[in-house]
Amino acid sequence: MEGFIPFSRPTIDEDEIAEVAQALRDGWVTEGPRVKRLEDQFREAVGARHAIATASGTAALHVALAAAGVGPGDEVITTPFTFVATVNAVRYVGATPVLADIDVHDYDLSPEAVERRLSPRTRAIIPVHMAGQPCRMDELLRLAAGQGAVVIEDAAHAAGASYRGRPIGSIAPMTAFSFYASKNMTTGEGGMLTLGDDGLAERARLLAHQGLTRDSWARYSRNGHWHYDVPELGFKCNLSDVAAAIGIHQLRKLPDFLAARQRVASLYDRALADLEEVELPRVRPEVRHAWHLYIVRLRTEMLTIGRDEFIALLGQRGIAASVHYIPVHHFSYYRRLLGDLSGELPNTERVAPCVVSLPIYPALRDEEALTVAEAVRGILRRHRR
Ligand SMILES: *Cc1c(COP(=O)(O)O)cnc(C)c1O
Repeated sequence: MEGFIPFSRPTIDEDEIAEVAQALRDGWVTEGPRVKRLEDQFREAVGARHAIATASGTAALHVALAAAGVGPGDEVITTPFTFVATVNAVRYVGATPVLADIDVHDYDLSPEAVERRLSPRTRAIIPVHMAGQPCRMDELLRLAAGQGAVVIEDAAHAAGASYRGRPIGSIAPMTAFSFYASKNMTTGEGGMLTLGDDGLAERARLLAHQGLTRDSWARYSRNGHWHYDVPELGFKCNLSDVAAAIGIHQLRKLPDFLAARQRVASLYDRALADLEEVELPRVRPEVRHAWHLYIVRLRTEMLTIGRDEFIALLGQRGIAASVHYIPVHHFSYYRRLLGDLSGELPNTERVAPCVVSLPIYPALRDEEALTVAEAVRGILRRHRR
């Protein structure tokens, strides 16, 4: 479509293509040396002790919960304002998700709301670094420690972000990243689990590889050995070398990708600053934001249109916007499981119908971002109350 601005578009160059071709020529199509390289380089980039490449971000969360021993009867506190994968992973291990409300401006898990949801059955807390802005980790870690619960960060949006000078991936005992197509770096499908504890890392690696005591790299390389044990039930969650070939180059470019995302965010900030009808994203002083998403909140009480019409009008102008997120407890599966929680999550209920995510990615050109900003201005001007 002429002049169409998609919501997201990955940046894949000749380096990624050549590396994938080389992986195919080498014959390492499943987990091999490129996975190891990606794990080592990622671990180093985020200052983690261990990194385990996984088939997806969801798989990284699943393995993290299983490695922590979270299971039936346990409660896991997380946010309703996330991609459903966060909460699905809790269900995969048979635990009960407990949804705590969000901050009304930053849209992330509120430590005060978490505190009200703590119980003797709380085994884990999963903060989601919404849009790429790290959560209030000091408070969340303190609450978890007081309850003997583990913190597992959902950092699907936050590769490259940092909190009080520490990179995301080096803070909580476990952090799950996603390399899905739209994320800050991609392997097509893929993810990474970083860990700080040796024992937990050993268990997580085993659980990500069917419970086998050695991964295929160790088994099939020259010094590998055919024998292995299966001490417990594991899952098939590993990444392939074909995918890792993409990731190695994406990781190298991550600082540039983040700078480009920051540039788009600054452009939107400037171009939309004077509009009373939208609330723009805020950045806390203690974080480095990774700008996976640029979320604006419409002050619909000042407008004659709602959020859905606003998105449709952007679409008519050739601009794809999106919504992050439909709250988890609105989905019929979770309504059946958890009952009607709308009365208990007032901030989420207030924010959810008004948020719009504008296109933000390294391949978005300045002229395109300005076109988006102009379209937003035009639509708001025309539909003022
Ligand atoms: C993308 C995403 C996931 C899941 O990642 P996949 O790699 O698609 O499995 C989990 N949580 C959040 C917040 C996400 O945005």
